[in-house]
Amino acid sequence: MKFTIDAMTLHFYSIPIRTPFRISAGVISHKNALLVEMRTKDGVIGWGEASVDAVPYYAHETVGTVTDLIKNTLFPLLRGREFAHPDEVTDCMDSYRGNHFAKAAIDAAAWDIYGKMAGEPVWKLLGGTRERIESGPTVGIKDSPEAALAEVDEYMARGDARIKLKVAPGFDNRYIETIREKYPDIRLMVDANSAYTIEDAEHLRSWKRFKLLMMEQPLAETDIYFHSKLRPGLGTPICLDESMHYLHDARCCGEMGAADIINIKVCRVGGLTQTRRMHDICQKYGIANWIGGRFGFSVAVAPRIAAATLPNCTLPTDCVLDLDYMIDDIVEEPFTAPDYWTNAPTAPGLGFTVDRAKLKKYTVGTMVL
Ligand SMILES: [Mg+2]
Repeated sequence: MKFTIDAMTLHFYSIPIRTPFRISAGVISHKNALLVEMRTKDGVIGWGEASVDAVPYYAHETVGTVTDLIKNTLFPLLRGREFAHPDEVTDCMDSYRGNHFAKAAIDAAAWDIYGKMAGEPVWKLLGGTRERIESGPTVGIKDSPEAALAEVDEYMARGDARIKLKVAPGFDNRYIETIREKYPDIRLMVDANSAYTIEDAEHLRSWKRFKLLMMEQPLAETDIYFHSKLRPGLGTPICLDESMHYLHDARCCGEMGAADIINIKVCRVGGLTQTRRMHDICQKYGIANWIGGRFGFSVAVAPRIAAATLPNCTLPTDCVLDLDYMIDDIVEEPFTAPDYWTNAPTAPGLGFTVDRAKLKKYTVGTMVL
């Protein structure tokens, strides 16, 4: 079963998000990203989404850099080549460095094609074993602990949720205490997005009393070493997120004992093939996994669901709640998790059908390569 990549179309979209948020560069009120529609010589179509934004406030890559790389480098590299497996597509792209968000979009399209050709859902071909995926919501940094609690109340009314609370210096103890007072037993975790330093170790150790599910990325964005120093005696499992880009990072983490858990973001590590490889490394080192999201359409959610079915992904994801943030989707039956649970899809490929009319509605530009 072989496929030859023959054509590619980039679809640029812009869609309002439900609750605009402020970053240092201004207010983000729309999600701007792009979809990759990849076609084989035999006419099989696969889809992928590059989970970037117009500006690099989260990812280092942007709509502009992804477009440039795919148009001028990755598509010319892949066009006309014959592949027997999506892993070969990823390994071929590995001859160029970094740019994982761009590569992940193409990797997703290759897996979608491969699944459609095999007549099997991608998650099964990837080695997934779970038929149901649990997702948990995230509470952003609020003006007051009461405002954070009100949001937790809303989520808990919907079902037994794993709650993730964003924290930062000055927005931590009182917030966690307020939630723990009302909900002493819920699965509560915090994500610091690198807001602390090793000098805060004693402060972070005091959170043992909150019985948190995990503390995500307390220290610097690229750090592994200081997390390995923080971990002994911390009393709360450490989860690394921003530090994990390459398989090498996960190996270092395992060797140094820097984390109990790794949050694998499919887009951050370069796609499903690399996700499965990082997952296998973590499993070997006894590091648990979960799959993190970045909001986008179901095209972006689908590979994350496939990844979340892998056996070592034992903790809830946060990637099937995108319709909570986006006002619409461009597939016929969007992935949702009303009670925080989603069934792994049964259709061949990534398991969605793009609604061309909806795609057109939110498309602001198209590039045929
Ligand atoms: Mg995180």
